[in-house]
Amino acid sequence: PVYFVDAPDFFLAHELAHQWWGQAVGWNNYHEQWLSEGFAQYFASLYARHAQGDDVFRGIMRQMRDWAMQQSDQGPVYLGYRLGHIQGDKRIFRALVYNKGAMVLHMLHRLLGDEVFFRGVRRFYTDRQYQKAGTEDLRLAFEQVSSVSLTRFFDRYIHSTGLPELGFTYRLETAPEEESALVVKLRFEQRTDELYDVPVTVTLHYRTGDSQNVVVSVTERVTEVRVPLAGPLSRVDVNRDFEALARIVDQN
Ligand SMILES: [Zn+2]
Repeated sequence: PVYFVDAPDFFLAHELAHQWWGQAVGWNNYHEQWLSEGFAQYFASLYARHAQGDDVFRGIMRQMRDWAMQQSDQGPVYLGYRLGHIQGDKRIFRALVYNKGAMVLHMLHRLLGDEVFFRGVRRFYTDRQYQKAGTEDLRLAFEQVSSVSLTRFFDRYIHSTGLPELGFTYRLETAPEEESALVVKLRFEQRTDELYDVPVTVTLHYRTGDSQNVVVSVTERVTEVRVPLAGPLSRVDVNRDFEALARIVDQN
């Protein structure tokens, strides 16, 4: 399917993952092929993280994100094999059905958290084992375990072509209850007409050399979170792990 220099077992892991995704759980029709290829791609990435660590995982995520973002306006994931068909360009199909599909699962993972995400995966698998499945079945499985409405999430990323565009600012504040304690306010504003759900990592760098990652679930027109600080900051980075499928302008 795709080769990552740093992860020679990726191909094998992807093909093995098809025993679950694609074989045990099939796909209803060509629209739903991402349930097979996106899952195989994502589970191969998780295997790479397990076997080779975070750096290799991040390299894979970054590459998949770049491919997905470059081709996203070519059509929705839901178009399946028809993506790139007219141009005769298979890269468009792979970028969206394989890599955007995997990134969508990764964003869902980060929005719901480890425990709920894997409960949703198991629910989907046991509900649809030895049957065919569609995006709606996946949405229902995750909604049942999370009690979160995911209609907008799948509409935006699977049925549409757009991606989030965010402006990011931060400001230091004094916590009201304790005057000496510093707090940083992280602020994201969505600039597209339609709103998205997108988890974004903000990295706080302290003057001591330590750093801290904060994952902000951006879901509103304006999302603000306040984070207590462990000391004076030297720098703040946004989306340095490239795990948000979004265009982000750092306005600081
Ligand atoms: Zn495959």
